[in-house]
Amino acid sequence: MSTNTKFIYHRVLLKISGEVLQGSNKFGIDIKSLEKITKEIKLTLNTGIQLGLVIGSGNLFRGSTLSQLGINRIAADHIGILSTVINSLAMRDIMNSYSIPTYIMSSMPIDGICVGYNYEQAINLLSKNYVVIFSAGTGNPLFTTDSAACLRGIETHADIILKGTQVDGVYSQDPKKYPQATLYKKLTYQDVLQKELKVMDLSAFSLARDHKIPIRVFNINKPRSLYQIMKGYDEGTLIE
Ligand code: UDP
Repeated sequence: MSTNTKFIYHRVLLKISGEVLQGSNKFGIDIKSLEKITKEIKLTLNTGIQLGLVIGSGNLFRGSTLSQLGINRIAADHIGILSTVINSLAMRDIMNSYSIPTYIMSSMPIDGICVGYNYEQAINLLSKNYVVIFSAGTGNPLFTTDSAACLRGIETHADIILKGTQVDGVYSQDPKKYPQATLYKKLTYQDVLQKELKVMDLSAFSLARDHKIPIRVFNINKPRSLYQIMKGYDEGTLIE
């Protein structure tokens, strides 16, 4: 790494959707995918960046899907929330095996497994270069881990929310269904609302907009993309 390299962020909040953890499988946790993300994170940490992490659980259980199958929505969301803890435990284990000091906090503490979220303690740990995984979403049903990412990002004074997905950014239409869809490089919060683009659910997005925290949506599977973002490269879509 060149000593002249400038990194533009001091602290970031990275949100990874659960699907990124399942790799090419239809369900569950693929260790190779966890290792791949961990290597990208390790490369990025070499820049001195402080990193908070929120992990979804679409690879295990989503409340909306379970409720369609007949489980009460609130109980279904609790299952989704607990699944984020499962993903966080797996991720921490792999990160530790790569010598990345990692700490899990949970909006729903589980005795002997993960401590409760505390924003002062979280900031303190981030300042000491621990990666802090904020698990259990917001701790409330009817929300998503995107809301948790914006909430924890704002609380811990992150410079930006980085949303790592399986696609290259925000498109005019779903690129899987419409190959002619165009990728936006830059959008305002207003553009996203006017064009009804799918960036995050509305509660999460409003939180980011109201607190003027920028969001970057990018492809976490693209090698070095996270690192390039730290260097100020225009990866994915920036919303501000
Ligand atoms: N969830 C919730 N409250 C939260 C965060 C998550 O109820 O604050 C539940 C909800 O059921 C959701 C599931 O956890 O479907 C997984 O979160 P999300 O859908 O955000 O995961 P992702 O799509 O990012 O993998």
